[in-house]
Amino acid sequence: MNFLLDKEHQAIFEKAKAYSLECLAPVALELESNPELLKAKMKEMAEHGFYGLGIPKEMGGKGYNYLQMSLVYEGLAHGSGIMSFLLQLQNNINMEIATFYEGIDEEILKVVPDLANGNKTTAFALTESASGCDPSATEAYAELDGDVYRIQGTKDWITNAKDADYFNVMVKDGKDSKNMIMLFVPADTKGLRYLENRERMIGNGMFVGGLEFDNCVVPKANLLSADGFKEA
Ligand SMILES: Cc1cc2nc3c(=O)[nH]c(=O)nc-3n(C[C@H](O)[C@H](O)[C@H](O)COP(=O)(O)OP(=O)(O)OC[C@H]3O[C@@H](n4cnc5c(N)ncnc54)[C@H](O)[C@@H]3O)c2cc1C
Repeated sequence: MNFLLDKEHQAIFEKAKAYSLECLAPVALELESNPELLKAKMKEMAEHGFYGLGIPKEMGGKGYNYLQMSLVYEGLAHGSGIMSFLLQLQNNINMEIATFYEGIDEEILKVVPDLANGNKTTAFALTESASGCDPSATEAYAELDGDVYRIQGTKDWITNAKDADYFNVMVKDGKDSKNMIMLFVPADTKGLRYLENRERMIGNGMFVGGLEFDNCVVPKANLLSADGFKEA
């Protein structure tokens, strides 16, 4: 069996590496602490076609498989680890919305082209102050109330908490439930606000902080997954 990359895969890696060395490496140190530069570089990466990697072509993405995506991230990491991480995070969350779930609401699917071209930003919200490695300790919950979910609780350490347009939020399916669900929550939903940034040893160009849900109401159709622990 030949384990070497073929020309097409090698080209994917080389393109990402070349871009990263030319455009990210010279400002890698500044990207650690400058949020505006970081956002500008995310936009630039979108313009260079590094967004929407795992989103199917018919939905505006690149339709890459996991090997192809990994090669992009590896190439980008040559110039900046943090930018490679952020792009990977974005692509994974966007792919969740675009491809992982059956019967996803049509209204939600309408945002996918904007995720594929980097016009909109997403975030994944699972962690809480007292639940990191152990998602079964999650306290935030959503109660189904007719045609809507009412979300209550607080998340912590969420990358892009301040800048995301949409959140994939993991909560318990009812206050006393042990089952987890994932809900799609637009950032401008009433009852949702971001909390303070968490200062870190590295990577302070990106906002990583809390989210508060106080009777935050989303349509029942915003259920992305009822099989939450699998997603977590
Ligand atoms: C920069 C940054 C960005 C992040 N972005 C996001 C995000 O976008 N969305 C999100 O949901 N979360 C995010 N997180 C949170 C991250 O997912 C959690 O930090 C991670 O799940 C670990 O949780 P914790 O920090 O509470 O560690 P803990 O769960 O407290 O674990 C601490 C240590 O104890 C060990 N440990 C824990 N339980 C056990 C056990 N039972 N047996 C043996 N060892 C154990 C762990 O391996 C670890 O070494 C982010 C964190 C950081 C630092």
